Amino acid sequence: MQEAYISRRAALAGASALVAATTLDLPGLAYPAQAQGTPVNQAPGFYRYKIGDITLTAINDGFARRPLEGFVRNAELADVKKAMEQAFLPQDALNITFTTLAIQSGGKLTLIDTGNGDSGAPTSGAWMTNFKAAGFDPKDVSTVVFSHFHGDHINGFRLKDGTAVFPNAEVMVPAAEWAFWMDDAKASAAPEAMKGAFAGVRRVFSPIAKDVKQFEAGKEILPGITAIAAPGHTPGHTVFAATSGSGKLMIMSDTTNHPALFVRNPDWSAVFDMDGPQAAATRRKLLDMVTAERMQVAFYHAPFPAVGHIGKAGNGFEMVPVQWSTAL
Ligand SMILES: [Zn+2]
Repeated sequence: MQEAYISRRAALAGASALVAATTLDLPGLAYPAQAQGTPVNQAPGFYRYKIGDITLTAINDGFARRPLEGFVRNAELADVKKAMEQAFLPQDALNITFTTLAIQSGGKLTLIDTGNGDSGAPTSGAWMTNFKAAGFDPKDVSTVVFSHFHGDHINGFRLKDGTAVFPNAEVMVPAAEWAFWMDDAKASAAPEAMKGAFAGVRRVFSPIAKDVKQFEAGKEILPGITAIAAPGHTPGHTVFAATSGSGKLMIMSDTTNHPALFVRNPDWSAVFDMDGPQAAATRRKLLDMVTAERMQVAFYHAPFPAVGHIGKAGNGFEMVPVQWSTAL
């Protein structure tokens, strides 16, 4: 007994030393591997699931901490804090998480959005580590589809030094989003607070502008993937219905920010919603639809792995996460 106990301890110590060394060697890892001598790194942030014949992999890009004050435009701070308390979340700040999707279908690898790249908060930027941990190579990405042009969705496409991260990918964008952000008149008339966002879009897309494929909402853009207009968060904000066999998934993009606030209170608008009332109308419509059809849903800013279902709750809705499964 004693001998077995000792050798098991030795084996465990050896294993954790190996994990620590491997983790420290990974370039671009966003999480500190050690804090005060205790390992704090998590397992890689990817999670696979299937919709019919389509395999989806949720890939996490860490988080950005946002003070709660001023975050919801049309609600009292006390009410926002109460919603956070009911969800057992802190009441001073919200950790906004980022989860993109990699889609394997028909022998092709498609990404929906790309995370923050090296342009986000220090607590973000884990995307590439997690993407590679899931067994993927950026060279193998055949298509990158963008839901909208906010920095946390597009900056992963191009590093700060200009490097294109997915050299072989075709790029597909909502036509309405392109029309808004690439309009030079709108860029120069933009208020000071939005100039950075316009510059960021140009930084990512200008070098490939002639090759970008624009798509209209309502069209099947890839086999089994249909784009649906969801304006309000941005003018061309788009969600995607993925259908295969009897499986149906609505990729909700930024229809809501954190579900504990905005699925629960769909009439609330986060500061990032460019047109608050339009975003709220879109949100109610889509949440009603996925509830009625019992569709599975994926949200960019829901807690990882950011996939579940929506049920009615009070005057709003609630998100019910899927059960984590080792079987696909
Ligand atoms: Zn976002």
